[in-house]
Amino acid sequence: LATTKQDFIRQIVREDVASGKHQAIKTRFPPEPNGYLHIGHAKAICLDFGIAREFGGECNLRLDDTNPVKEDPEYVRAIQEDVRWLGFEWHDLRHASDYFEVIYRAAEKLVRQGDAFVCDLSADEVRAYRGTLTEPGRNSPFRDRSVDENLDLLRRMRAGEFPDGARTLRAKIDMAAGNMNLRDPALYRIKHVEHQNTGMDWPIYPMYDFAHSLSDAVEGITHSLCTLEFEDHRPLYDWCVDKVDLANSKDLVQPLLDKGLPFEASKPRQIEFSRLNFNYLVMSKRKLMALVQAGLVDGWDDPRMPTLQGIRRRGYTPSALRLMVDRVGISKQNSLLDISILEGALRDDLDASASRRMAVIDPLKLVITNLDAGHEESLTFPNHPKDESAGVRTMPFSNELWIEREDFEEVPPKGFKRLIPGGEVRLRGAGIFRCDEVIKDGDKVVEIRGVLDPESRPGMAGADRKIKGTIHWVSARHALAAEIRLYDRLFNVADPDDDEGTGKTYTDHLNPDSRRTVTGYVEPAAAVASPEQSFQFERIGYFVADRHDHRSDAPVFNRSVTLRDTWTT
Ligand code: ATP
Ligand code: MG
Ligand code: MG
Repeated sequence: LATTKQDFIRQIVREDVASGKHQAIKTRFPPEPNGYLHIGHAKAICLDFGIAREFGGECNLRLDDTNPVKEDPEYVRAIQEDVRWLGFEWHDLRHASDYFEVIYRAAEKLVRQGDAFVCDLSADEVRAYRGTLTEPGRNSPFRDRSVDENLDLLRRMRAGEFPDGARTLRAKIDMAAGNMNLRDPALYRIKHVEHQNTGMDWPIYPMYDFAHSLSDAVEGITHSLCTLEFEDHRPLYDWCVDKVDLANSKDLVQPLLDKGLPFEASKPRQIEFSRLNFNYLVMSKRKLMALVQAGLVDGWDDPRMPTLQGIRRRGYTPSALRLMVDRVGISKQNSLLDISILEGALRDDLDASASRRMAVIDPLKLVITNLDAGHEESLTFPNHPKDESAGVRTMPFSNELWIEREDFEEVPPKGFKRLIPGGEVRLRGAGIFRCDEVIKDGDKVVEIRGVLDPESRPGMAGADRKIKGTIHWVSARHALAAEIRLYDRLFNVADPDDDEGTGKTYTDHLNPDSRRTVTGYVEPAAAVASPEQSFQFERIGYFVADRHDHRSDAPVFNRSVTLRDTWTT
C-alpha cells in the first residue's frame, strides 16, 4: 500500500484491510457549516482524505448541518473551496440533512422497539434529573409511556404541533450509567427554524450523536475519525448504529433510494485523535467569529486569521500545511504545539519552491557617481540558488539605487558588516561600492553617494576581493512602488485562551503591531507576479502577491513569514 506512515489510525486501517474486515476503506470529513475552516481542520482533512487516498478508498465531504440556527450556505461554499485548495477531492458531497427522513424513520423504529420515548420535561428539569458524575440520575416521569402514545407524540412533533422546547425524543438507555452521555440522551428536539438546505420542512431536528452515527452508517463509512472530545460519545454512537441496524431495515432508507442516492450500510468504527492546537492562536470558530464581528480583524480571510482562507491569503501553501500535518503526526495526546512548527513548515516549503526576488522595504537612495547619469544595463540572476531548473531573470541596474535604510550606519554598532561612511559593501551581483559622501536633511540620512569599483563586477578579476557585507538593492528608475503589508502574530502571548484569574480575555492579548503597511520598492520581475505567487525577497522574508489586491502596476505583497524565527518572548 502507498503509505509508510505509522500512526495508530493507519495501523488499524492497515490491519482491517489485511484481515479482510473491509473490502474497501471509506472515510468522511464532516464539518458543521457554521463558520470557516481553520488550521485545525487541515489536520482532520489530511487524515480523512489522506487515508482514503493512501488505501485506495473513498472519502465523502459531509456538511453536518443539524444545527440550523448557526448555519449558512456561505460557509458551505467556502468549505468546499478550502478542501480543494488543500489538494483533496471528495467522492460524494453530502449533507446530514439529506438523511433527515431516514433519521426520522430510525426514530420511529426506536420508539416501536421501546428504545426511545417522548419526554415533556423542560431543559432545566432534564438537567436536574440527569444526576452528576458521582450521583445516578432519576428516570423521567414520562419514560414509561406506551409505544402507541410515544409514536403519536413523535408524529405530532414532526407535524409541528408543539412549540420549541416543549418536548424531546430521548433514547431509553440507563439513567445510572457512569457515562453521562448514556443517561437517556435527547435524540430529537423541536425547533421551528429555517434550515439552510431543507427550508421550513422540519420543525424537529436530530441531535448530533444520533444524526452523525446514522449518517456514517448510511454512507458506508468504515472508519469514522474524529477528535478526542467525542471519545465519551462513542458508546452512544455504537448504541445508535446497533439499535437502528440500517443494514437490516431497508424500509428506513427507501427515501434515499427514491432520491437516487446510493445506500451502502456499514457498521462504522469511531476512532478519536487529538486536536491540533498552536500557541499564539485561537482556533475555535466561536472566537474567530467574535474577532470578525467586533472588527478586530478584516474579515474571515484577514491574513492574520488561522482560518484556511486567512492563512492562504497570508501566503501559506497547501503543501506547507500538509507538511506541517505530517510533522505533527497523529496521536491521542492533546497538546499545545509551538507555532514555530507551523512557520517552519512554511519556510521549508517556500525555501524549496519560491523564486528569489529583490525588494527594499525601507528605502534609502544610493547614487553611483562614477556611472553616467542615464546609465542603464540588465543583469541576470538565477531565480533559485539551489535549483537551476527554476531558470533566470534579468534585473535592471542603473546609477541610482534603493537600498535598505538599515544596511547603512553612520555610527556603526560593534560587528556591523554593511555600509558605513568611507566603507565598502558588495551590491549583490553588481560589484563593490564605496561610500564617499552622506547627504542629510537635518539628522536624517537621505542619500549615499560613492563609487562602484569597475574591476569588481562579477566575473572580473577584482570580484573576489574580500568584503565583509553583501546587501540587496533595486534600481530606483525601474523599481515599482509596492504596498507591503508586514504581518505578524495576531496575539502577543503564547496562550491567549488562558484567562484564569487574570480577569482578561483573548481579545486583551491582541498584538497591536500585527499589521504594519509600508511602501517599498520591488524589482520589475516581482511586480509581474500573478496573485498568490510567492517569493523570497532576499534577506527579508517570504512574501506573497495579495490574492485580491495585487496588480502588476500597483503591487501589493503580504509578508507570509520572516526568514528566521525572530520572535522573542
Ligand atoms: P471548532 O470547535 O473549532 O468550531 P468543531 O470541532 O466544532 O471546531 P467541526 O466543523 O465540527 O468543527 O469539525 C469538523 C471535523 O474537524 C471534526 O471531525 C472535528 O473533529 C475536526 N476538527 C475540528 N477542529 C479540529 C482541530 N483543532 N484539530 C483537528 N481536528 C479538528
Ligand atoms: Mg462540531
Ligand atoms: Mg465547535
